[in-house]
Amino acid sequence: MTDNRIGTSVRRWDRHGREHVVRLERAGLQRTFGCGTCGWRRGTRHLPWTSTDEHPATEHLAEAHQATLDPARR
Ligand SMILES: [Zn+2]
Repeated sequence: MTDNRIGTSVRRWDRHGREHVVRLERAGLQRTFGCGTCGWRRGTRHLPWTSTDEHPATEHLAEAHQATLDPARR
């Protein structure tokens, strides 16, 4: 888990420099992604929290907020 820099949240910036964060919440086996900007939520049962790309959180940030800039990535 040290390779992807995600941990329990995904941060992206949009073109206006605003930060959008999707957090991972766990309740038993259920995991839920929650967007701090618009309240978007999505539950997932078995999706691994590993990849920085092709991920529901990054997809949502890109599509809903045009937030694709990863502050942790150079
Ligand atoms: Zn959102």
